[in-house]
Amino acid sequence: MKEDNHKVDSDDEDSWALYADASYGKSEILTEESNANPGKEEEVWYDGDDFEFEGATINWDAPPCPAPLGIEHIIRIGCCNFCVQRLAGRRTASKGEDGGKEIRKEAYQRNSELEALEKNDLCPLCENLFDDIDNIVKRIIEQIGEVEHSSIQLGIHLPKDLLEDEDKIRSRHGSPGSPHLKPSFVNEIQLKLSSLVHGVTFVKEKPDLMILVDGLTLMVDVDVRPVFLYGRYRKLIRDLPQTRWPCRACRGRAEGCESCNETGLQYAESVQDLIGEPIRLSLAAEDTSFHGMGREDIDVRCLGTGRPFVIEIKKPKTRLANLEEIQKAVNENTEGKVEINSLRWSTRSEVVKVKESRSEKSYTIRFRVEEILDEETVIAAISSLSGVELSQETPKRVSHRRAAKNRKRKVVSLSNIIVEDDEIQFSVRCEAGTYVKELVHSDEGRTVPSVRSVLGDKECTVLWLDVEDIHYE
Ligand SMILES: [Zn+2]
Ligand SMILES: [Zn+2]
Repeated sequence: MKEDNHKVDSDDEDSWALYADASYGKSEILTEESNANPGKEEEVWYDGDDFEFEGATINWDAPPCPAPLGIEHIIRIGCCNFCVQRLAGRRTASKGEDGGKEIRKEAYQRNSELEALEKNDLCPLCENLFDDIDNIVKRIIEQIGEVEHSSIQLGIHLPKDLLEDEDKIRSRHGSPGSPHLKPSFVNEIQLKLSSLVHGVTFVKEKPDLMILVDGLTLMVDVDVRPVFLYGRYRKLIRDLPQTRWPCRACRGRAEGCESCNETGLQYAESVQDLIGEPIRLSLAAEDTSFHGMGREDIDVRCLGTGRPFVIEIKKPKTRLANLEEIQKAVNENTEGKVEINSLRWSTRSEVVKVKESRSEKSYTIRFRVEEILDEETVIAAISSLSGVELSQETPKRVSHRRAAKNRKRKVVSLSNIIVEDDEIQFSVRCEAGTYVKELVHSDEGRTVPSVRSVLGDKECTVLWLDVEDIHYE
């Protein structure tokens, strides 16, 4: 294990990574000036090859552990039992502190002088870090509280100077291959935690909880990782946005304004909340984020097998849930406005997959034409659009939020043309990203060709549009 316990997945781009990289104040060790011969100590310190620790000179000529003289040496300079065990390179009956006690006892038996030596207050390797384990574990348990979890990833920050000095002593006097300070410390915390809390595994990626411990301040931060659910939604009514829309008047202030009835929302309901709120409640979570495979306009229904989505549930207090029950709860909550199916567990990487999908889509569209035309002529004209490639400039209606550009999109097929007086309806399957209303009315010539153009430049007004299917998986 290297010093990267708090390293996170590249797909976890959120605050944890920022926090883990936050700069921690360096702490000075070796601050206690020796009362004897301060001048000499300074000279030795800058020598770079030899230094004093609380008065006990480190003898760089001592052989490294596991040689008995090496073990004697690390005891002489005041190593704690944890560090004695870590550096000695000896097999012991117990691990950790008790193993260190065994080794120390043997060393005392070989050389009784050692026992009489005055003890240092501070271990030169860990600065008595291991003494804080009980305290740290207690804080971790307090912070986790009632949050349900089965895996933990533990990260630890230690002062850089401490690690550098420890490395110097360990590599000279420790047994070859002695474990480094940071992973040993992490390991001790995990052992202690495991002895108190059962059924938790420690992982290096995708944990339920990320726990960051600052070895200097003993500050503990518990980050509850989100869970993800995949499903497909059918939107059975019009005038319902996919995601929450902040109120235009107050820009979504928490307290809202008069025009939004103090909700902060432009529309009281959204697909996101109709689906998300029952899920949020069943997982006792803080909030949700909604990631749809594209979105339909507010006035467009989405039928067929529905639109794929991944919902991110933030800071859930429980992760064990019966998805069948959740799906049922959602479908009861939405009162026929929205319906979901195919609900299953998902991941953050599926969010990307769903968002980047280029699935073809099928629609039914109905429009009014400015004058009644001959049915056969209409059917022949509209059928001629089947298979063509459209050239579509960014429509006027979205140009305020999208850069102007020209897209080429294919009309895969076109069928079921119905002519009823001045109303015409047809089904069409298009490439992802086709502007379908514009295919009909041409958006003042920005879409070429269009239904309007093949009907001899007769004005066409879209009455309604339904998404019939999203051809995904
Ligand atoms: Zn130590
Ligand atoms: Zn408002």
